[in-house]
Amino acid sequence: MNVPLLDLKAQYQSIKADVDAAVAEVVASQHFILGPKVEQCEKAVAAYCGCSYAVGVSSGTDALLACLMVENIGPGDEVITTPYTFFATAGAIARLGATPVLVDIDPTTYNLDPGRIEAKVTKRTRAIMPVYLYGQMADMEPVMWVADKYGLAVIEDAAQAIGAEHKGRRAGSIGQYGCLSFFPSKNLGAFGDGGMIVTNDAERAEKLMCLRAHGSKPKYHHKVVGGNFRLDALQAAVVSAKLPYLDSWTAARQRNAERYDGLFASSGLSIADSAPLSTTGSPQIVLPKVVTDRHIFNQYVIRVPRRDQLKAALQKKGVGTEVYYPVPMHLQECFAYLGHPAGSFPESEAAANETLALPVYPELTDAQARYVVECTREFFTTGA
Ligand SMILES: *Cc1c(COP(=O)(O)O)cnc(C)c1O
Repeated sequence: MNVPLLDLKAQYQSIKADVDAAVAEVVASQHFILGPKVEQCEKAVAAYCGCSYAVGVSSGTDALLACLMVENIGPGDEVITTPYTFFATAGAIARLGATPVLVDIDPTTYNLDPGRIEAKVTKRTRAIMPVYLYGQMADMEPVMWVADKYGLAVIEDAAQAIGAEHKGRRAGSIGQYGCLSFFPSKNLGAFGDGGMIVTNDAERAEKLMCLRAHGSKPKYHHKVVGGNFRLDALQAAVVSAKLPYLDSWTAARQRNAERYDGLFASSGLSIADSAPLSTTGSPQIVLPKVVTDRHIFNQYVIRVPRRDQLKAALQKKGVGTEVYYPVPMHLQECFAYLGHPAGSFPESEAAANETLALPVYPELTDAQARYVVECTREFFTTGA
């Protein structure tokens, strides 16, 4: 059996007529840059995220960058974030000459541990950038408490978490900004790069719109130095055509996650409640924990001993998996200057060594999920 990590062709087949029509409309109009398709998409995504405004941008990375630019964050400034994330989070901070100040993660959710933030606040701290890893929101009440106390901006990296929810608030609607990515492997993926910033702040939305078009307003009159961070009309049309399906895809991902939970529970494997994994007795596996109201399962991530061997064994049997992420930010070559040796963020380092994402895409079948769990059981019982 073949079980890819993600099957975008299956998704495309199920919505081909809608998406093709949306693309054809843009092509017929030859209106490729901003315009009505982008505005339509912004309105729909803002509403979906429970926000008043949305600004389409060229990627999730540029969404993060543009928010930091609007906050005038640069050399000498510090932004608090997590070492256990996709590179873009810390990368956006560093690109502006600011310093990413890292705090370790909560091993239950893999999101930054809010209890560690306040100790890292200095006179130079300007913002906090929490990441909602794998599709589950971070514990935002204490994050907002620290942000309000010290007057810091909160830029939510919700690239993996569109539609995630906790205590009645959607991802992206809590801080000053919510950054979304339409990278094809995200739950709402475009046909290329794309991203969006959602916000409830009219003034910040206005600044973002100006910044994404070289800071020009009116045209050829530049208030600030921006960039070309625009969302393509073609990508906006694809995203708008897919958005009506997002809730059903999320429900399918959640069903797949529950299915895995059940299959693992009855597999005979020893399920540990949390890390660290026991190194004695039968091999233990930790399943994802849902501690918020709506986890959208961009990834279903387990923790296992001998992770790389399991990954290779599954690959041999036709099961695609991925490690998100093998090297935490403080151990990246480009961030050596931050001066955090191995051991500085033990929770992030342990997660980087032990986590493995299994296929959880909406079209995954019951038989495929069973096969993935059976192959995992086989690895831990026979070693192959
Ligand atoms: C995907 C992702 C990004 C970047 O989004 P792009 O659209 O690929 O630029 C940023 N942060 C996180 C956590 C992501 O998963």
